[in-house]
Amino acid sequence: MAKRPYIVGNWKMHGTRSMLSEARAIDRAAERLIKAEVALAPPATLLHATRKEADLIGVGAQDCHTAEGGAHTGDISAAMIKDAGAGFVILGHSERRADHGETNEDVKAKGQAALSVGLNIIVCVGETEQQRDAGTALSVVTEQLAASLPECADAGDRVTVAYEPVWAIGTGRTPTVEEIGAIHAAIRASLLEIYGEAAQEVRILYGGSVKPDNASELLSIPEVGGALVGGASLSADSFVGIVAAA
Ligand code: PGA
Repeated sequence: MAKRPYIVGNWKMHGTRSMLSEARAIDRAAERLIKAEVALAPPATLLHATRKEADLIGVGAQDCHTAEGGAHTGDISAAMIKDAGAGFVILGHSERRADHGETNEDVKAKGQAALSVGLNIIVCVGETEQQRDAGTALSVVTEQLAASLPECADAGDRVTVAYEPVWAIGTGRTPTVEEIGAIHAAIRASLLEIYGEAAQEVRILYGGSVKPDNASELLSIPEVGGALVGGASLSADSFVGIVAAA
């Protein structure tokens, strides 16, 4: 049976406790909108509180360290994230690749660390505008995938991929339906090479300027199994609008 569309809100570095009311409202809506599987990735400081406020939706983190613990000031391990109530972690977001110089190898090591403590992972890939203009979007994305995805025996249940063109994030611009369809089909083919048949079950999300008014078109593209939503996940109204379109 096909999985439900997976709609994940990425709050990035937004949110203090006053925003927990949004998480609560999203959770209440998710009780009604059962056609989609809904999750939120608040900043690490809100993980525990979000888990307590919202008990129906998935709750995840936006990054984790590769080490189990130790002298890594300011970092947070996968086990700590799990302990705070998270069930998954987003890895390799383009903002982390750009701001922290994260490489595909770093993302893979983080993925291994997360899977080993029982967290599921959402691994992000996507080309820059320059790469798209140079006609290399497809090869960039498939190379990122091959090098960023950790080994996983039950990838169908535990791994999600998010295709997020860097130039579409927070810009209000999106690729065409055909462009997204072509990349998602190529991602599926790569996943089959990496994970074998289990890859059929891996959901491939689209991310980058998903809003309530374009969600239904984006979510109806073949091989788009959900959305990773930044800006529009910060208010329950707009995020629920996207969930309702799924
Ligand atoms: P956006 O961000 O929806 O604000 O474009 C998406 C993301 O970075 O996950």
